[in-house]
Amino acid sequence: MPSLPEQTLYIAGKFTNAVSADRFETINPANGEVIATVQQAGAEDVERAVASAEQGFREWSAMSGTARGRVLKRAAELLRRNRDELAALETLDAGKPLSETPEADVDSGADCLEYFGGLAATLHGEYLEVDDAFVYTRREPLGVCAGIGAWNYPLQIACWKSAPALACGNAMIFKPAELTPLSALRLAEIFTEAGLPAGVFNVVHGFAETGQLLVRHPRIAKVSLTGEAGTGRTVASEATGSSLKHVTMELGGKSPLLVFDDADLDNAVSGAMLGNFYTQGEVCTNCTRVFLHERVHDAFMEKLVERTKKIRLGDPADPETQMGPLISAAHRDLVLGYIKHGRDTDKAELVAGGGIPHDPALARGYYVQPTIFDRCNDQMKIVREEIFGPVMSVLTFNDEDEAIQRANDTEYGLAGGVFTSDLDRGHRVAARLQAGVCWVNHYNVTPIEMTFGGVKRSGLGRENGRQAIEYYSQLKSVYVATGDCEAPF
Ligand code: NDP
Repeated sequence: MPSLPEQTLYIAGKFTNAVSADRFETINPANGEVIATVQQAGAEDVERAVASAEQGFREWSAMSGTARGRVLKRAAELLRRNRDELAALETLDAGKPLSETPEADVDSGADCLEYFGGLAATLHGEYLEVDDAFVYTRREPLGVCAGIGAWNYPLQIACWKSAPALACGNAMIFKPAELTPLSALRLAEIFTEAGLPAGVFNVVHGFAETGQLLVRHPRIAKVSLTGEAGTGRTVASEATGSSLKHVTMELGGKSPLLVFDDADLDNAVSGAMLGNFYTQGEVCTNCTRVFLHERVHDAFMEKLVERTKKIRLGDPADPETQMGPLISAAHRDLVLGYIKHGRDTDKAELVAGGGIPHDPALARGYYVQPTIFDRCNDQMKIVREEIFGPVMSVLTFNDEDEAIQRANDTEYGLAGGVFTSDLDRGHRVAARLQAGVCWVNHYNVTPIEMTFGGVKRSGLGRENGRQAIEYYSQLKSVYVATGDCEAPF
């Protein structure tokens, strides 16, 4: 029996039954049980969502930035007030441990709404004088935007996309990943309670086909996707191909972490673990290629393996649990396939984990042990491909130039990190890593003020920070003559 009632769409400021008769189930990854049946949006539903968003856009875009900001800040407040309930919902649907979700999902979503709520009041154009005229620019919204989310940070992604979009005066239709549809609906309800006009934030559920309906819709102005690099390529080319939509693509990665021989090793081990095992390793920026200076390899590995073996895997709803299950049985099998390949074909040295946990209490969930392969080389499949699970590959280097060249030898460019006590080197390495985000002596912290996004196959455009505004608004120039036209005829 599902534990929650059938989940509807959210259109025109209220829960709305889908016209489409298609349904799917959302599953608790900790035990394989059905949480709820979910209504799937078909073409007619997407059409209704677009019409509702267009109506919401007219009212919302006419409001002042200050008034829009007030609504976003009220929504942030409501998110914080419902922190426990939202964290528990995210834990149930995504399998993320309750030791993470209050802060990493709910607080970070609230920070985002608050930050862009503040920025909304500051948006403005510019004024300049030219010959016989003056020119001013207006910062205008794009219109109806589509947000398409991944399943690893469902609520946070919905906030990262909607907050800057709404701050600029746009309306949004959000499609959560079909594996994690629940929290976006609660966000929609909270937006309405905060005073957001009907139609400004809508939720449609479904698979890639529903996403495609949004991507191909002629009256949608922008598509912002978080997903795999392959999905990003397809979506970006469809979105820009026919209707020249704006796009933001937050995609996958295979990021490097460089640990130099002067690093604080305990801190570096913490960074490597944060960047591989937090959220079960299902984090796009993870430093799944850990490059150790040969001189510190043994000392680092001893600490790393000892600490990794102590990670508490378990029911994500237990506050003591440090790692929960992966998102689905299919994803678990994919990750286990990579581990098998690493062991049997790549012949990397398995030094921790390597399979499913032995605890019979976890047998129904999609658990994978935190896994470390040592003595890897740059050609191995586990080193080259994004696994999106708790699998770390360790490599060694002897010299800075060599380490940077190998770190950059990937089609991805989302993130990177360096641990060193020499700050000159920290800045130097950060400057040379081909990545959208770099951390020096830390890893995977993403304060909302910090611009986020990838280079190379990891993405297009930026989220968070002031710069996100550029991706949800456009400038119009207005030329105002102070003299007469000088027509040659
Ligand atoms: P997917 O690319 O499989 O899916 C992402 C979203 O796109 C889902 O909502 C999916 O729907 C939808 N979708 C899939 N195909 C299409 C299509 N052709 N047209 C429109 N929509 C489509 O990614 P995952 O959900 O599996 O997420 C994991 C990936 O996301 C990893 O590669 C990870 O690195 C990346 N990621 C990137 C982040 C970043 O900020 N750079 C952050 C988090 C994750 P459905 O789910 O129903 O298939």
